[in-house]
Amino acid sequence: MKSKYDTILLGHGSGGKLSHDLISDLFTKHFDNDILRQQADSAVLETGTTHLAYTTDSFVVDPIFFPGGDIGKLAIAGTVNDLAVSGALPLYLSVGFIIEEGLPFSDLEQVVLSMAEEARKAGVKIVTGDTKVVDRGKCDKLFINTSGIGALDKQNVPISSGKNIKAGDKIIINGSIGDHGMAVMAARNELNITADITSDCACLNGLIKSALDAGAQIRFMRDATRGGLGTVISELVKGKNYGIRLAEDRLVVNDGVRGMCELLGFDPIYVANEGKVVMVVAKEDADHVVEILKEHPAGAQSAIIGEITNDHQGSAWLETLVGGKRIIEMLSGQQLPRIC
Ligand code: MG
Repeated sequence: MKSKYDTILLGHGSGGKLSHDLISDLFTKHFDNDILRQQADSAVLETGTTHLAYTTDSFVVDPIFFPGGDIGKLAIAGTVNDLAVSGALPLYLSVGFIIEEGLPFSDLEQVVLSMAEEARKAGVKIVTGDTKVVDRGKCDKLFINTSGIGALDKQNVPISSGKNIKAGDKIIINGSIGDHGMAVMAARNELNITADITSDCACLNGLIKSALDAGAQIRFMRDATRGGLGTVISELVKGKNYGIRLAEDRLVVNDGVRGMCELLGFDPIYVANEGKVVMVVAKEDADHVVEILKEHPAGAQSAIIGEITNDHQGSAWLETLVGGKRIIEMLSGQQLPRIC
């Protein structure tokens, strides 16, 4: 294949336009099959009469310890959340470690303890794994891959594709945006920034289960990780026969995050979260879902932030605080490397 690019750029891992091009022009082009083509948070597998959700994710965050979490907590939460947002009950995880020679044993132990604690809280078991050690300088301290399997109730199968979304449905998020990305940026010593920002890194399966158990019509869920809320929304609406309207005055951006975004020139709507789920819920159930989410520690600031519309089909826009409209587009190029 002749690519537009001679080499891989950091932007190919950003979750934005370049990542999409890489996935569609290389990976899904050659690995193509009907399951992969769905490009959901988890693959939905049908085995006999049961459905399974199956997902994988690699974690290369720099630094490996940051306020609110570490690479281990992130590796558990990221995979648990990809299963949970697909409507599945997360059950089993695999863990692969790639370790740089010279990593302090105590650092590895701290990461492992944090993974064990997070898995216990989420009610998942780590059932298989692998360890590789590479020469000094051949990777940066520690990379982790986790895969996960969850049980998917048949009635929740349509959630990952969002195929039942209708005009009038409400869009809900369980709190503030941009905390994870800015917490990691602030933790990078080279920036010399002291900011009081804590990552929102958390497993959301408990929060999501309480909404599903209430019988609410949840039409779609996705965790707003790399690329942030803006990427979830722009991917969701692309090529669809509906539009999305978001209200900026409903979005919560913590002061530290807002300040740091202004300083570094980032738009918080595109900054990574690691404990935020975007839900599309039937209009009549939306208020009830918000009430349920608010009872959960990871959902205290849950709110309806927008809706699915009949107009502006295929595009999403933000009604700004000053009364303007801004199109929410897919992020082009690089934003924040090695944030997860
Ligand atoms: Mg995801």
